[in-house]
Amino acid sequence: MTDLANRLSRRALLRAAFALSLAPLLAGPALAAEEVNVYSARHYDTDEALYAHFTKATGIRVNRIEADADKLMERMRTEGVNSPADVFVAVDAGRLWRAQAAGLLQPLKSPVLEAAVPANLRAPDGEWFGLSKRVRIIVYNKAKVRPEEIKGYENLADPKWKGRVLVRSSTHIYNQSLTGALIAALGETGAESWARGLVANFARSPRGGDTDQIRAVAAGEGDVALVNHYYLAHLIRSAKPEDKAAVEKIDMVFPDQSGRGAHVNISGAGLARHAPNRANAIKLLEYFVSPEAQAIFAEGNAEYPAVKGARLSPILAGWGEFREDTVNAAVFGRNNEAALKLMDRAGWK
Ligand code: FE
Repeated sequence: MTDLANRLSRRALLRAAFALSLAPLLAGPALAAEEVNVYSARHYDTDEALYAHFTKATGIRVNRIEADADKLMERMRTEGVNSPADVFVAVDAGRLWRAQAAGLLQPLKSPVLEAAVPANLRAPDGEWFGLSKRVRIIVYNKAKVRPEEIKGYENLADPKWKGRVLVRSSTHIYNQSLTGALIAALGETGAESWARGLVANFARSPRGGDTDQIRAVAAGEGDVALVNHYYLAHLIRSAKPEDKAAVEKIDMVFPDQSGRGAHVNISGAGLARHAPNRANAIKLLEYFVSPEAQAIFAEGNAEYPAVKGARLSPILAGWGEFREDTVNAAVFGRNNEAALKLMDRAGWK
């Protein structure tokens, strides 16, 4: 070793020793800025209250990036091991599963989360946990349909409903997840013949979102619509005269009440693969299933809390108890590709 190299390496050693001696000071609670980085595909005003409560209770600052789930996943993929993401929040099991399949999440064993979230609403290895439930219901026009005529999803493929069914496009993940659930129940062949029957009964070529389907039922463009329950709840809450008039004309049923039960999807969250603030991320995920957070989480979008016993919003309480399909939500993601293909073959635009 030359003299210069020797001196340099001694300097490096000294610098390392100096850094080590400082380390305990820097790690002390007084100096550490505790934070957690959330990549969220949820954007409800109530979420502000949720994160504010968490910060107040723990002193951990919440930094949030909001975008649609696909953009957030792309960002995490690009950032790789340097990703600042600690917690990923998405609003459909299919998307949570995509994040898991892309290797963007890590398994988490948490007795708190496992006790709170029913097993069918979380990934078997803990990559994601359902935090609220969204139910695919059937809305009908009261002047044209008696509720007892509506049995469930499969029955909507019956020729009796020809020209009467409204549903959004198959490009939307809600319909893909429902079809994924039907693949689990009926097999691919069964699910495909269901999709063909359903398409044959469409009142119009799919367009618009779930709220548009509900408005179309009220306007008499079709008699029944397949939608997520909270879109109806939003319409019921609305103070607009035209929404009040629409709500007067319609009502809802929970599908498949004498069979498998209504299709339940989730919004939920998981621990990011490279979470730099892992401990804080776990604290936040566990906070999400506290009674306080569950009530806020669900109320923001009129969803059902994932945790049993958490407070329901008044409209949902009024709809009463119902039977839920308890198939694991991971199935929706696993069957997503098959669902897409068969919906395409069935001509579901
Ligand atoms: Fe939605």
